[in-house]
Amino acid sequence: MSKKHSQFDVVVVGAGPAGYISAIRCAQLGFKTACVDNWGNKKGQNSLGGAHLNAGCVATIALLESSKIYHLMTHGINDHGIYAGNISLDIGKVIRRKDHIIETFAAKIADIFTHHNITYIHGKAKLLNDKHISVNSSEHPTSSILDAKNIILATGSSPIELPYAPIDGEFIIDTAMALNLETVPETLAIIGGGVIGLELGGIWNRFGAKTILLEAQENFLYLPDHQIASEAYRIFKNQGLDMRLGARVITAKAHDNKVTLCYQDQHGTHTLSVDKLIVASGRKPNTDNLAAPEANLLLDENDFIHVDENCRTNLPGVYAVGDSTVLGPMLAHKGIAEGIFVAEQIAGIHNPINYDALPSVIYTDPEIAWVGQTEQALRAIAEPIKVGVFPLNANLRVHATEPQNEGIIKIIAHAETDAILGVHIIGAHASEILAEAVLAMEFSASTEDLVQTIHSHPTLSETLYEAALALKNRALHLPL
Ligand code: NAD
Repeated sequence: MSKKHSQFDVVVVGAGPAGYISAIRCAQLGFKTACVDNWGNKKGQNSLGGAHLNAGCVATIALLESSKIYHLMTHGINDHGIYAGNISLDIGKVIRRKDHIIETFAAKIADIFTHHNITYIHGKAKLLNDKHISVNSSEHPTSSILDAKNIILATGSSPIELPYAPIDGEFIIDTAMALNLETVPETLAIIGGGVIGLELGGIWNRFGAKTILLEAQENFLYLPDHQIASEAYRIFKNQGLDMRLGARVITAKAHDNKVTLCYQDQHGTHTLSVDKLIVASGRKPNTDNLAAPEANLLLDENDFIHVDENCRTNLPGVYAVGDSTVLGPMLAHKGIAEGIFVAEQIAGIHNPINYDALPSVIYTDPEIAWVGQTEQALRAIAEPIKVGVFPLNANLRVHATEPQNEGIIKIIAHAETDAILGVHIIGAHASEILAEAVLAMEFSASTEDLVQTIHSHPTLSETLYEAALALKNRALHLPL
């Protein structure tokens, strides 16, 4: 049977943030664009937005918000003089609210695709060579072939499975399944105290699960600045998260409606019995079966797509962006920036990405957010630096409004040039406060520029201003 051929200027594979944004930018630039994606939601419907929207950050922040409200209602709402009687929790409804947020946003993306004349094809794409992609779709019995002048691979990542803790979907679950629990487990263990483990641990802990995080590394959160990581450890511990460091899980098995797991630490081997276990031990690139062997797409030893600094793969006209490439961390906004960069590159516009001003956020309560270099990294290379630290609860807006008012903001600048080298925050709305710091770094601002900028009062943005003043020993709301 002959296969149907369709022709496009650009075919984007994957409709996560990197892919769908890239497709929109391609269409804006006048390219005839198709986007192939095979995500199906739990109702079996096609859903744009990829893991980020359907089973990642967006789902996480929706649940995070519900868990914060529940916690406030059960701990501390009375401080406002508000008494709400018996508070009860309907987790099923919490999950349905999250699902509704996802479904309505996925529909918005589909709508934008329609408005931009982007052809959305539901199915599994396979790169045949640098100009052809085959699509296998359950909706169309014969696979079709897409002829593309340019191809953008944006296939994302998925949770790593551990052979010694096999996912059964009920007792031992992955990080996507952990966003769909219909009851709050009495006891919950999480393998991995990384970004996702902490985000999920905080949510289910606030909903009432006794939560134990098992992290193989001795150091808590190795990516952020050490001062922020130790402040985070102290705050999360006070919230009741049981975080066990240097604890490597070696086996996990479900039986009799429980999970028994063994982990090793410096004191020996320990056994733990819990109602549920979440495996949050990292993510791997979605490159399995992505390219036919004869396409010769180059992957690295961990199956990430090899790209150069312009997101070009080894095949002419084939680009890769987002989580599945060797370039940069797995962050949605990194993928978005790369998706736009590549679309513009195809149009002959060269607008390179400044990876030095790439923000990072961990969606915990309080949030952790940073941009630029850490104090330890700068000291390790003997860079002359000045550091300013400001406690968030010394800020009037935080003091007046935030139930969670702990945390710090830290700014690091070059001792001689005063250039901002890094900003690190743990605290309420850290991700939003950080945006000004990212802009400042993008425009090579100094701490003096921040100090000369008028910030509305009282606002959270003043914390960055105060941190810059603290660096000059002039913070206004700190004792001398
Ligand atoms: P991670 O690498 O951040 O954390 C996984 C942790 O699991 C590691 O610290 C590792 O030491 C630990 N681990 C592995 N095996 C273990 C074992 N047997 N016992 C105990 N600990 C074990 O990975 P993640 O949290 O799954 O996140 C994956 C990626 O996705 C990261 O790059 C992350 O930055 C990204 N991500 C980012 C966001 C965000 O921007 N907010 C959200 C989700 C994911």
